[in-house]
Amino acid sequence: MKAISGTNLEQAKSHNRRVVIEAIRTNGPLSRAALARLTALSTQTVSNIVEELEGSKLLKAGTPQKAARGQPITPYSINPNGAYSVGLELERHHAVGVITDLSGSVRARIERAVDRPTPTEAIPILAGIAADLQTTFRFDRSRLLGVGIAMPGRYASEGVTSLSPVTLPGWQNFPVASELQRLVGVPVLIENDATAAAIGERLYGVARGLNSFVYLFLGGGIGAGMFLDGHLYKGSRNNAGEIGHMIAVPNGKLCPCGKRGCLDRYVSLGMAYKHLGIGDPDSCSLEELDAVIDHAGTSLDVWLDAAVEPMRQTIDFLELAFDPQTVVLGGSMPPSLLQRLALRLEPLHVPVNPTTERVIPRIMVGATGRDTAILGAAALPIFSETNPQFDVLQIPLS
Ligand SMILES: [Zn+2]
Repeated sequence: MKAISGTNLEQAKSHNRRVVIEAIRTNGPLSRAALARLTALSTQTVSNIVEELEGSKLLKAGTPQKAARGQPITPYSINPNGAYSVGLELERHHAVGVITDLSGSVRARIERAVDRPTPTEAIPILAGIAADLQTTFRFDRSRLLGVGIAMPGRYASEGVTSLSPVTLPGWQNFPVASELQRLVGVPVLIENDATAAAIGERLYGVARGLNSFVYLFLGGGIGAGMFLDGHLYKGSRNNAGEIGHMIAVPNGKLCPCGKRGCLDRYVSLGMAYKHLGIGDPDSCSLEELDAVIDHAGTSLDVWLDAAVEPMRQTIDFLELAFDPQTVVLGGSMPPSLLQRLALRLEPLHVPVNPTTERVIPRIMVGATGRDTAILGAAALPIFSETNPQFDVLQIPLS
């Protein structure tokens, strides 16, 4: 059972600061009066917070605008240079790093080839990318919030327990975040690629301002990132959303997990490339992949036909289980392929209440394209620093 606790002023202050940042991030520049209206905070509280956030350079004042009556109105917006974040992504054949500002814009990017690295090989490479990003792009280092890393893995509370879709040697129970943090000297946050992508879309993409949505990450495998009632939902062992191993076709194709008919075996990128005859997608540029997809003809249709019904079933299940405002499709799948799949999904299964008018479509395609996981990784420290955490105001009753 939970109750509202009104005693911890410091937590309430931090919560209110986050609420103000979130209101501006969602709506664009706002005056103090508009902020007070939107957040239901008093004008005095908003004024104090705005002054403080302007002082710490997270907000910046725009040009005062003349009002019909009274004082000119000053709009406040997010100051892109108020904070920075590094995002890292490790896959089997490449490691990528970006540095983004507080508005989510990429200011530098570094990509290096790797070959199925062990953790002892990968950690110095990742730390090296983080260090090189900071020399490539000159900025006030004291404004670096931290490093976020996205990995396609299964997780335990301390780190990764295995990397899917093909488990890499040596990663079992390796404490990625703490080992990397030792080398980079700033906080390191780690999430699976679907959760990181969901956060990226929540901060900067199509899910901005949404309180409940599910992000379907289509990559080597398929996973779901769940942002529900204003929170990330991660499950008791951080593995919520591992829906790639949900049985979509009873007694269907055998899956490496030991079951038959898993969603992964029909919808994932690996399966799409198999149908398209692409043996080594890592060696192809996006243009080359697009050309193959454009000229694939019936082999693409064969994959789409096999993928569409399991996808509809998955979306139906996610809607029934979590009642999200929308389901966002994205991942490392080339956008041209993702668009084709998205177009084939209609008609979706009949919703539980078909008469309810919808403002937001049932499915949306993510805004961040193929870079969605790395941008999501960079968003992790910013999210952790600025997203309102509604549970800080609630304490469990013993
Ligand atoms: Zn499986």
